[in-house]
Amino acid sequence: MAKQWGLATVAVHGPGRKSKAHHAVSTPIVQTSNYSFESTAEVVEFMKAKGEGRLIRESEYGRYGNPTQAEAERKLAAIEGAEQAILFSSGMSAVIMALLTFQKRDGHIIFTSDCYRQTRDFAIQFMGKLGLQTTLVEPSAAAIQKAIRPNTNIIFTESPTNPYLRVIDLAEIVKVARAHGVLTMIDATLATPYNLRPLEMGIDLVIHSATKYLGGHNDLLAGVVLGRRDLLEEVGRLQRMFGAIPGALTSFLLERGLKTFALRMEHHNRAGLEVAQALEAHPKVEKVWYPGLESHPDHAIAKGQMRGFGSVISLLIRGGDTETRRFIDQLKLFLITPSLGGTESLVTQMATMSFFESTPEYRQSIGMVDNLVRLALGLEDIRDVIADLCQALDRI
Ligand SMILES: *Cc1c(COP(=O)(O)O)cnc(C)c1O
Repeated sequence: MAKQWGLATVAVHGPGRKSKAHHAVSTPIVQTSNYSFESTAEVVEFMKAKGEGRLIRESEYGRYGNPTQAEAERKLAAIEGAEQAILFSSGMSAVIMALLTFQKRDGHIIFTSDCYRQTRDFAIQFMGKLGLQTTLVEPSAAAIQKAIRPNTNIIFTESPTNPYLRVIDLAEIVKVARAHGVLTMIDATLATPYNLRPLEMGIDLVIHSATKYLGGHNDLLAGVVLGRRDLLEEVGRLQRMFGAIPGALTSFLLERGLKTFALRMEHHNRAGLEVAQALEAHPKVEKVWYPGLESHPDHAIAKGQMRGFGSVISLLIRGGDTETRRFIDQLKLFLITPSLGGTESLVTQMATMSFFESTPEYRQSIGMVDNLVRLALGLEDIRDVIADLCQALDRI
């Protein structure tokens, strides 16, 4: 059924319309830690089937699954066009579980720079501590190709990246990976399945922080890994041991938030482009990074592989730390906080919010300059957002 349905329909109904417990229209929140059996015979029958890889009823224990979580996973898989989805308690637990599942003792993992702060720290500091080989390269297919070693077994990348919104040519990466038998993973949080279809382009695993656009309301933490069933089964085995599960209420909020996913993304894409254009024309703005702008270095790639460009915009304010903070403090609509993809518009000065404890030299080396501001637009009226940004810029 879902194969013929459009994305907005799947976002409302999931893979197929079916009646839920108690004929409820919304997904029931099954708040339980375990599931009981009628008799020992039922236990034996259940365990036998489980041994053959069949689940004939709810599992015995909450770490192995929850019906509300399963409902959200089915809908996410249908939206992404994946065979299977596994939900996690956060985007970072999804990233780390996917990496730990497929890393090999003598393997080598290629990461792209300008990636999420915690992913970078996990790759360099933690994996380094375990003696695992990792290389951090420029976010481009050419740089990835150059970094391939005989023992490379994973390419992990993000697109668009954060905060510079670099867009990587996925078709090129898939070509390189297939030539060398390397598994590809992409953290596509900033793109979402509305704007980018990595699995259809041949990427093996897609990861999202569902905390962002998928949840969409700045009120939950979750992460998801999506892809082929054989790969997801391995991720699931580790997930069942590790137990970084989202819980029933979070799963409900996520599945509910997804009902408006397509509608929200339409607005995010429109707002992102209109606001980026307005900022680029403002004299107090030195530079704007948004993949939908012709001035962005990866605009051609973005246009070729994305349907829209989302609502994260990075900009340089003319001036230094003082002018930048004056701008942020004059904003009336924007909340000063990290994250993105929710209903409220958010603003951060990257140097103070995400990299405060780093040395100025390190910040400079990774492009986290004092006058760099990241905006994550919400769902407010676009002209109110532009008016707020302009009044704050004018008052610097
Ligand atoms: C937020 C984010 C993460 C981490 O997700 P959490 O849900 O906060 O753990 C990972 N990658 C990207 C690109 C993100 O934006």
